[in-house]
Amino acid sequence: MHEMSLALEILSICERELGGLPETQVTAVGVEVGAFSGVDADSLQFCLEAVMSGQFDGVRCEVVRQPGEAACPRCDRAFKVMRAPFECPECGSLARGFSGGQGLQLCYLEVE
Ligand SMILES: [Zn+2]
Repeated sequence: MHEMSLALEILSICERELGGLPETQVTAVGVEVGAFSGVDADSLQFCLEAVMSGQFDGVRCEVVRQPGEAACPRCDRAFKVMRAPFECPECGSLARGFSGGQGLQLCYLEVE
């Protein structure tokens, strides 16, 4: 399962960040998932909670969807898109493409 291997990867990044300090606990982790990254945010949330709470008691996991951005071919307005079709909120024209929203990144890590 794709999301599970990502969750394990995030866990290993967290452990590396801690640098082997035994007294340090991760209390929260936040991950941004691009809307077009091919990663299911709900499923990643589930896997991440399972993986992280096995290692850190009471850790909070937050998975946030990052939209892509499209530009309207008619009125030139830039707008955020989460999924196709990319319809301009201003005039209803369809944008042909989008940029961004394809990555996955660890955006914060809280420790104590
Ligand atoms: Zn428009």
